[in-house]
Amino acid sequence: MALVIQKFGGTAVGDPERIQAVAEHVSRTIRRGDQVVMVVSAMGKETDDLLRLASEVSSTHPGREMDMLITAGERKATALMCMALHDLDIPADSFTGSQAGFLTDTTHTNAKIIEVRPDRVREALDAGRVAVVGGSQGVSTDNDVTFLGRGGSDTTAVALAHALNADVCELYTDVTGVFTTDPRLVPSARKMNTISFDELLEMTATGCPKPAMRSVEYARTHRVKLHVRSAFTWQEGTWVTEEEPNMEQAIVSAITHDDSEAKMTINGVPDKPGVAAQVFRSLANQDINVDLIVQNVSDHGVTDISFTVPHDDVSHVEKILNQIAGELEAQGVSIDTEIARVSVVGAGMRTNPGVAAKMFEVLADEGINIAMISTSAIRISCVVQENRVEDAVKALHTAFNLSTT
Ligand code: ASP
Ligand code: MG
Repeated sequence: MALVIQKFGGTAVGDPERIQAVAEHVSRTIRRGDQVVMVVSAMGKETDDLLRLASEVSSTHPGREMDMLITAGERKATALMCMALHDLDIPADSFTGSQAGFLTDTTHTNAKIIEVRPDRVREALDAGRVAVVGGSQGVSTDNDVTFLGRGGSDTTAVALAHALNADVCELYTDVTGVFTTDPRLVPSARKMNTISFDELLEMTATGCPKPAMRSVEYARTHRVKLHVRSAFTWQEGTWVTEEEPNMEQAIVSAITHDDSEAKMTINGVPDKPGVAAQVFRSLANQDINVDLIVQNVSDHGVTDISFTVPHDDVSHVEKILNQIAGELEAQGVSIDTEIARVSVVGAGMRTNPGVAAKMFEVLADEGINIAMISTSAIRISCVVQENRVEDAVKALHTAFNLSTT
């Protein structure tokens, strides 16, 4: 008998028929003799709808009330799911995040899990019942309901898998697994049978939308076995595993892209110790998450510092930078929102030279200019003009032989 965590995303439970289809699937797992803990997201686009409602009613969005509002979506879905399971003679109980033992910090709308104490979930399992847990929610150290942020249901599922020592955590979505690139851009993109935690983490950090990055981080830290698969075809998906030390690694496994960021530059800052520290400390103090930082070669004692931030943070960052530019007597601040990032990811590049050279050649052949470059041991990212990023993805996917053969 295995203990299986099954998480279903919004589209998987988007309407009554979908809820019934998912309940059928869970009943098949139960009849096979396994135990199931389900995690469900809000139905369809309900989270977006609730956020829109909030902005129609108010302009202030107090965090505590936002979290009460948003978590209602998942709560509805858990109760409906249990009703569908009861119809199939599968005993099941719904639980809010708080009931399921998710203790979080007090950061409303984006709370972090402190501890999971799934006593009631365990009791339900011991009594032969399916536990259906609301995704992306918990209760704070101040005893308020909290939301774990967008995509947080994946994290709920992984955290439960860890806390309950489950055999596997299955993340059911509307795609059949993890692909070599976005199949909407490149129809010949291939579904991978397996991928390593490290590679998937790099992919989700550079634009691969599913699973949510935080859940992959959590799974990697706690070695939770993940299976990303479809709630529509139910076929075998992509297994996320640890890298075997002697496994033959693909040099490049995937191409990702991300057009959600903008490039910010502070021009003509004095090139002396402490300047970068001052710039990035000011941003960090305002909770701005920066990425891909580049400092130019110094020219006549001054330099430029560029970095990327999410589009949503641009106006906030602009204000902060203008203030710092004044303090540092810099020449000015410039913003480019028409950028995007294309990345190649592959564990095999650790030991194989020439991947960067090839990537730059492919972009050059397409006449695509590179504005910024950054690397990790298993990833190379280039910032390019936003309107060329699709061409870049297609050309790189072909050049690295990632298509279905
Ligand atoms: N429903 C929430 C969202 O759309 C949480 C989740 O599904 O992960 O972000
Ligand atoms: Mg952009």
